[in-house]
Amino acid sequence: MYQAIVSPQEDKFIAVRAGQNAAMQLPSRYYAELANLADQNAVTPGWFAEVARQAWGLDLAARPVNEALVVRPPSVLPVTYSRASWEINKGCNFSCEHCYLEQRPFAGLPLADKLRLIDMLRDMGVIWFEITGGEPLIDPDFVPAYERAHAAGMMMEILTNGSRLHREDLLDAFRRRQPHKITVSMYGASPETADALTQTRGAFKNAYRGLVAAAEAGLPVDVTLIITKHNVAELDEMRAMVRDLGLRFKEYASISPTYTGKGSTLAAQVPDLIGKSDVFQGCPAGHTSFHVDPHGFATMCKVGRDNPISLITEGPQGLLRLPGIADAQMLRTGGCTGCKLSSTCRVCRPMARVYQEAKAPLSHYCQHGMKEAS
Ligand code: SF4
Ligand code: SF4
Repeated sequence: MYQAIVSPQEDKFIAVRAGQNAAMQLPSRYYAELANLADQNAVTPGWFAEVARQAWGLDLAARPVNEALVVRPPSVLPVTYSRASWEINKGCNFSCEHCYLEQRPFAGLPLADKLRLIDMLRDMGVIWFEITGGEPLIDPDFVPAYERAHAAGMMMEILTNGSRLHREDLLDAFRRRQPHKITVSMYGASPETADALTQTRGAFKNAYRGLVAAAEAGLPVDVTLIITKHNVAELDEMRAMVRDLGLRFKEYASISPTYTGKGSTLAAQVPDLIGKSDVFQGCPAGHTSFHVDPHGFATMCKVGRDNPISLITEGPQGLLRLPGIADAQMLRTGGCTGCKLSSTCRVCRPMARVYQEAKAPLSHYCQHGMKEAS
């Protein structure tokens, strides 16, 4: 199994290793040397073995390049899309009130098309690849899809509710092929709370079992504590539980409408935790990153889903239309037209739009309402 990935990324060349934050930027001639050595099935050069030892504690000395590394070719497109997320399936075994998916149909591409899609993402230059859902680990094709993307030299992140993480077939896949990160959403510190929030009996027991199994397997797990009015009273216990497992966590309390503009989710928001997000600083969505739905349609991101592009029928070249589609969605139009506060707004335009479509109170997202409320 390879130990690191060497790849073009936009106008740079990088070397990265799953589970490690330390990355290297390589001069173009060093990338060309590694690509050349990979073609000749030669040995890893001493300079790379040395920097890999310093950055990651690896011993690659005298190892063939093709064993030690995946050296990715440049993108087939004139632009490089280095990041992508993919809803392998919107189906989920939980039913959270705050879920940003209004509907969660269990449907997606057949396995052959899933693999073809992943090959296209590889050819487009995707390195940072997130598989999400719904709940991605309930998809019957998760393991072969994950293995295909990992083998292509992608830094894999899985977003999961954790309820299947204890399964041996999944642990085995993650042990054989190390993901960069598994991000587990946590919904409570007790069965009463987590099962009620997710409207699923056994949700807490299965998710906790998954966290324990993943921690014991030494997998790179990050926990996101999802804070809603249903579990905010247990927040300290949730923090303690994750610390006891030796895992890292972050907290997330910004409940948004569904991406289809329904505001039913907002009832779960903790009022005191509204408006704590940073000022929106711009976003490369649609230019260097994109999102793919379960049927292979690419959009700028998970929220801005106008004019989806079918990668299955159009292939990688279809993505060349995405920057224009993304720019059109970023214009401060609709309820934001002419806003004098837009430079310090906390939400991007596609997110503001779903709040406006949901007829959400301005105090949830817009500075005009936040000022009045404060
Ligand atoms: S676990 Fe995630 S995808 Fe499933 S219902 Fe809850 S928020 Fe939605
Ligand atoms: S502050 Fe409100 S009106 Fe202004 S851009 Fe942001 S969401 Fe739109």
